[in-house]
Amino acid sequence: MLAGESAGGNLALALLLTLRDAGERQPDAAALFSPATDVTGQSPSIEGNADRDPMFHGPSLAHLGNAYLGAHGDATDPLVSPIFGELAGLPPLLFHVAAEEALRDDGTRFAAKARAAGVHVETTVWPVVPHAWQLLKDLPEARRSIARAAEFLKTAAPDAIEHLDAIIVGAGLSGIGAAVHLQNDFPGRRFAILENREAIGGTWDLFRYPGVRSDSDMFTLGYAFKPWTDSKSLADGPAIRQYIVDTAVEHGLDRQVRFGHKVVRAEWSSADACWTLQVEHAGGRRSRLRCNFLLACSGYYRYAEGHAPEFAGLADYRGRFVHPQFWPEDLDYAGKRVVVIGSGATAVTLVPEMARTAQHVTMLQRSPTYVLSLPARDPLAERLRRWLPRMLAYRLTRTKNIGVAMLFFNLSRRWPAMVRKNLIGLVRQALGPSHDVDTHFTPKYDPWDQRVCFVPDGDLFEAIKGRRAEVVTDHVDTFTPSGLRLKSGRELPADIVVSATGLKLNVLGDVTFAVDGRDVDFARTLGYKGMMFSGVPNLIYTFGYTNASWTLKADLTANYASRLFGYMDKHGYRSAMPVATPGLETRPFLDFSSGYVQRALEMMPKQGAKAPWRLYQNYLLDLLTLRWSRIADGRLTFR
Ligand SMILES: Cc1cc2nc3c(=O)[nH]c(=O)nc-3n(C[C@H](O)[C@H](O)[C@H](O)COP(=O)(O)OP(=O)(O)OC[C@H]3O[C@@H](n4cnc5c(N)ncnc54)[C@H](O)[C@@H]3O)c2cc1C
Repeated sequence: MLAGESAGGNLALALLLTLRDAGERQPDAAALFSPATDVTGQSPSIEGNADRDPMFHGPSLAHLGNAYLGAHGDATDPLVSPIFGELAGLPPLLFHVAAEEALRDDGTRFAAKARAAGVHVETTVWPVVPHAWQLLKDLPEARRSIARAAEFLKTAAPDAIEHLDAIIVGAGLSGIGAAVHLQNDFPGRRFAILENREAIGGTWDLFRYPGVRSDSDMFTLGYAFKPWTDSKSLADGPAIRQYIVDTAVEHGLDRQVRFGHKVVRAEWSSADACWTLQVEHAGGRRSRLRCNFLLACSGYYRYAEGHAPEFAGLADYRGRFVHPQFWPEDLDYAGKRVVVIGSGATAVTLVPEMARTAQHVTMLQRSPTYVLSLPARDPLAERLRRWLPRMLAYRLTRTKNIGVAMLFFNLSRRWPAMVRKNLIGLVRQALGPSHDVDTHFTPKYDPWDQRVCFVPDGDLFEAIKGRRAEVVTDHVDTFTPSGLRLKSGRELPADIVVSATGLKLNVLGDVTFAVDGRDVDFARTLGYKGMMFSGVPNLIYTFGYTNASWTLKADLTANYASRLFGYMDKHGYRSAMPVATPGLETRPFLDFSSGYVQRALEMMPKQGAKAPWRLYQNYLLDLLTLRWSRIADGRLTFR
């Protein structure tokens, strides 16, 4: 076994490389505490993190490096800066680094490179503590770090399955948020984020269609702990992606993400109180990981395919047929005739954006949706930002927006006719008398039976008024070589047809689950607080609101997970499982009439009629029940 700290970590890694290259027997495992892996003086870790380090600043580290190297040394020699070495064939490695130190990313960068080279690696970024905190023997974090390293060195045989305290599936908005909570609330807990794709951001990295944006305000779609400071309240996709990436980088989580890891199966063993995950990698290679707790932040729809209704005659169509989930980078629509099929959030985003340069854009819908114009920028937020500290301004705007959204939803539920009249009245006002609002903007259902679509500064209405865009309410009869023929007989010529027909929902990232050898059918389980499932231990699923911003519920879910972990730690429990009394009244998990929800209800869990089995879709109620209610409520059983 081998262990080293700081410069000692550098020597330990250089020794491992030397032993490997000489064909000598290597230690069974090594523990590296804040190792210096790059002494070139240009390490991005030192440049990027020096300001946060109370002990070292960049130039002093460079000076130490030069003194070590002497006048003629080569700082890029792997025996001097091991990060530049070939890392395959090293024994299992444990890395502990501090979030607030200049060497932080030198350690995590080495760990990521070693993992990519097939080395078994465990990494933990410890918040708050300084460099070399293991020497401060009275610090609980020092004891925990040393204890974990000792356990690792004892158990890390080359063929051992890596065992973590928690695994987060998905590096989207929810996964990164959950990781921040977990890392802050339980420093030193071993966890990893497994991500199928090669990027952080989930939805906000996948969708690349023109104008892609949120239709929730970012003051509630943003994290409670990180202010949204961009001036746009309904924000562009790339800005949201950057916000998620920035969050990950700020907390040292970007290097905790294991990309190209698709979880395909999870098996729970009550005897060992742990999950064993089967993970698929590119090229079909499979590996296994174990953990005590699983946090599924895998979103709610399938990434590999969208909903694709069958259209007659599509094979004969000679133009381009595009799905927004797979937007072709080379699609040039300037001066072209475009038809967008759909009436949801994606269609109302695409139509005004494409209409800026297209010859003409037609939004073809089977039935209308409620569309409401909102200011793209929040004037109150802008004023508060000028007067108040950033976090306070953010919190005030967030609270205001939560209130407004809840008021809108509850008014819609209580007085649907009044809200309906007002929503349609606003469209009439925006479009003027010459437009047929009754046919194209008057839905058959009540507001919030399906999601209301928001458009920034009425851009959709402006495009229609400017005759650059048009709404047609009809059904596709068939595609023709030059466009579409509708049931009414009308022909729509089109160079490009965009099928904004929606998502294909899935449950828990399409992972199959088994508990003690029996496969879990989630359709036969009951959701507990909208995040756990009856009969399934140590699993929390993040599923955001359908009537408000996703992140509001995701934050509450991550917070509840921390409360649950704290309770289990305090009482020495290893598992927590909701148990439903037989015969409870059940309802569908979601009460949305939208087609994409209805198509998926069959495979989704059920909800009950009362707490804790009911999914309230109500932030204030959830705030009470998830933040403040007792963990031991008699429905959650512990072992
Ligand atoms: C176009 C669009 C616009 C939207 N706009 C809004 C909005 O304005 N407001 C709002 O509240 N919501 C909106 N949503 C919903 C949106 O998905 C959520 O806001 C939020 O981004 C969900 O974050 P997430 O991390 O839970 O899921 P996702 O963003 O879907 O991320 C899930 C991640 O998990 C990974 N993953 C999934 N399965 C596995 C597996 N088996 N193994 C490993 N990794 C896996 C995926 O690759 C992905 O990176 C929108 C959705 C879409 C599609």
